[in-house]
Amino acid sequence: MSQFTEFVQPQMGRIFTALGLDVEYVRAAGNTLHHLDEQGAEVPVLDLMGGYGSLILGHNHPEIVAHAHDLLDQRRAVHAQFSLREEAGRLGAALSDVVRRETSVKEPYVATFGNSGAEAVEAAVKHAELVRVRAVAELADSVAAHVERAREAVGRGEAVVDADAFHAPAVRERAPEGEGIEALLAAVGAHNAAALATRPLFLALERSFHGKLVGSVQLTYNSGFRTPFAHLGTRVRFVPMDRPELLDDIADEERVTLLDVETDGGRVRVVERDLPVITAFLVEPVQGEGGIHALTVEQGRAIRLFCNKVGTALIIDEVQSGLGRCGAFLASSLIGLRGDYYTLSKSLGGGLAKISAMLVRKSLYQGEFDIIHSSTFAMDDFSSGVARKVVELLEAGDGQLYRQVTERGERLTAVLNDLKAAYPDVIEDVRGKGLFLGVQLRDQGGARSMVLRGSAYTGSLGYLLSGYLLRQERIRIAPTGSAGNVLRIQPSAYLTDEEIEQLRGALDRLCRILRHEDTLHLVHP
Ligand code: PMP
Repeated sequence: MSQFTEFVQPQMGRIFTALGLDVEYVRAAGNTLHHLDEQGAEVPVLDLMGGYGSLILGHNHPEIVAHAHDLLDQRRAVHAQFSLREEAGRLGAALSDVVRRETSVKEPYVATFGNSGAEAVEAAVKHAELVRVRAVAELADSVAAHVERAREAVGRGEAVVDADAFHAPAVRERAPEGEGIEALLAAVGAHNAAALATRPLFLALERSFHGKLVGSVQLTYNSGFRTPFAHLGTRVRFVPMDRPELLDDIADEERVTLLDVETDGGRVRVVERDLPVITAFLVEPVQGEGGIHALTVEQGRAIRLFCNKVGTALIIDEVQSGLGRCGAFLASSLIGLRGDYYTLSKSLGGGLAKISAMLVRKSLYQGEFDIIHSSTFAMDDFSSGVARKVVELLEAGDGQLYRQVTERGERLTAVLNDLKAAYPDVIEDVRGKGLFLGVQLRDQGGARSMVLRGSAYTGSLGYLLSGYLLRQERIRIAPTGSAGNVLRIQPSAYLTDEEIEQLRGALDRLCRILRHEDTLHLVHP
């Protein structure tokens, strides 16, 4: 009896058992995981799931393991909170340098460390909102000062209310019969109080995945994850990736203005000022859980231009696409997209540590965020030390590892495209970047086989195939989190030709089974 399925994940446990994924791995190295057979012998499995994308350096990379040993052997202070965390400092400096090199941005980035990808996203969301509320407060303060000035000027007889002031629609609505400074200022005050109560808005792309915490789950498109918690969270609008022209409509629909008063030349006039309402736009340069969809240069440019135009922050979520996964430290740098914020996690921990980082342009950084946002485990010296080693390995040899990811990715993509050409009736699409690839299978809703039709109906085809590939081919592949018919392939940079050929053979046999609807093989190996 599994204690995991009894005490930890009872429902997942049942699903694992049903699909034949109920395996405990006991050892791991590179792209290989080992479980034990009934005789207690180790069975190797080719791991193409790669820790949900956290293993660009593979399982138990020898240099990372050795470095972790060193840190422990030295009895390094790991939990010395409220002190100069220089290990985190060195990591922050290294991340800032790499981001600046790749994006050619001159300004340094300030890091806030956390423990998971979703936490980095939430740190960025909170920080961006802090910037927004500061800007709103500044605007409201300046309006209040102008209101006082107008009142005093009229009181001293130095100014009168301009006849047009009551014609502004927002004023007329609140003071239809009004005249005089007090009626005008009352209307302005009422309008502004309502405007200032507007809830901030976040923009994200359809199919996005930004985490499952209370805040970040609202930025995650999958409605099954998101809607039960809709009342708890942030206000978000989702934009289709291929329709950036909709952004201008959204800006118009969401526009909120404050009324300001200007006293000039003996007249008090009303002017409208745009209130910053859109806190941030979150994008994944290559969407992972949503089914492996890469932003194009043009889409990236449209998003950046929009953010500049409305003065909203661009948060680039590189939790899964970053750290070399796509053939560069930042996948966004490959399409020339620059963010005000970056979130990093997954491979940053080198497969051993739990760590995430939120980077923000230094000129935007709000000093008090240090105190407003913190976590007991954040910035610990062990994770920071491991992460610094990861950055060092990624950056070694003038980007050798990024080139290797690109080369391995091309080789793997070529094999997947061969399969697509041989089985166009089974494989609909092969896409992705570097070693962040997805194989989209055709919908099996019209299959004659009840097994295939049923799995299409429940969106579980990818899971059924995962079970088959594990049991029959000793390959571990899972579908993406929100697109059950897309198999994600995210091996380490050290993927060998033999491993690629192992996958080719396995997928070839699988495609043949699907073509012939020979589904007994899937369910009864
Ligand atoms: N952002 C992206 C782009 C992700 O892919 C993920 C995880 N799949 C997250 C955020 C959340 O990271 P975590 O699971 O570590 O909270």
